[in-house]
Amino acid sequence: MSTPAEPVAPPVAPPVQPAQHAQRGQHGLHAQPVPPIVSVEHLGKTYGTGAAAVHAVQDVSFTIQPGELVALVGRSGSGKTTLLNMIGGLDRPDAGTVTVDGREVSSLTEKGLVELRRDVVSFVFQTFGLVPVLSATENVGIPLRLRALPTDVREARVALLLELVGLTGHARQRPGEMSGGQQQRVAIARSLANSPRLLIADEPTGQLDTETGLAIMALLRAVVQAEGMTAIVSTHDPLMIQLADRVIRLADGRLVES
Ligand code: ADP
Ligand code: MG
Repeated sequence: MSTPAEPVAPPVAPPVQPAQHAQRGQHGLHAQPVPPIVSVEHLGKTYGTGAAAVHAVQDVSFTIQPGELVALVGRSGSGKTTLLNMIGGLDRPDAGTVTVDGREVSSLTEKGLVELRRDVVSFVFQTFGLVPVLSATENVGIPLRLRALPTDVREARVALLLELVGLTGHARQRPGEMSGGQQQRVAIARSLANSPRLLIADEPTGQLDTETGLAIMALLRAVVQAEGMTAIVSTHDPLMIQLADRVIRLADGRLVES
């Protein structure tokens, strides 16, 4: 995949390191135990102190294998966002460790965290997080602008990503001119732009009706498969959970099922 002569697997030529990339496809005769892409050990995060302390995440441990789509489930306030943010390097734990793709996130410098979010991890949020004044095409292209790609390569890639999420006909529309489901599709396309190894989606269907939410979940399911990616998706919708390979359940910051 790193040579231009080979056909590019849609939708992306992944800018991952060759060594990491080789690891993905080791099956068959030379199969070796594949290291987990996410390893969480005794993770903890407390907000506030004393009587006001909130133990948002307490002594949580689990691993996720490459290629898994994991549903992170739990009531509102159970610690899902806190956990996801620590895995993706948006928030720092105050106990335990998180390792993602061989990098110990909890001990990365700011520079290391920036690299993690650029090269390995990508987020999708409940509120979409699109730039209102930019078209679908421009929103999807944002992560690619941070890389020195030739314009035609960038445009071709954005077109592929929009096609992947079924929005080719909406490329010029701004977020305000699209439905919630379409906006989330744009956000998903944008999150895939840099071929992340790990997609973290925090209640991506939380603002959508059930039917649209299921369609988004099915889209995530499909892109995880097509891209050989791993995804953690938080949700409290039982229907969404059925599409996941595995459920990790939190209650009051603690792991109750994995
Ligand atoms: P969920 O995403 O499952 O709804 P959160 O991780 O957002 O749960 O929150 C877990 C707990 O931590 C909740 O009790 C919440 O009020 C608390 N919490 C989250 N973020 C903060 C913060 N920045 N400051 C103080 N408390 C917080
Ligand atoms: Mg949350």
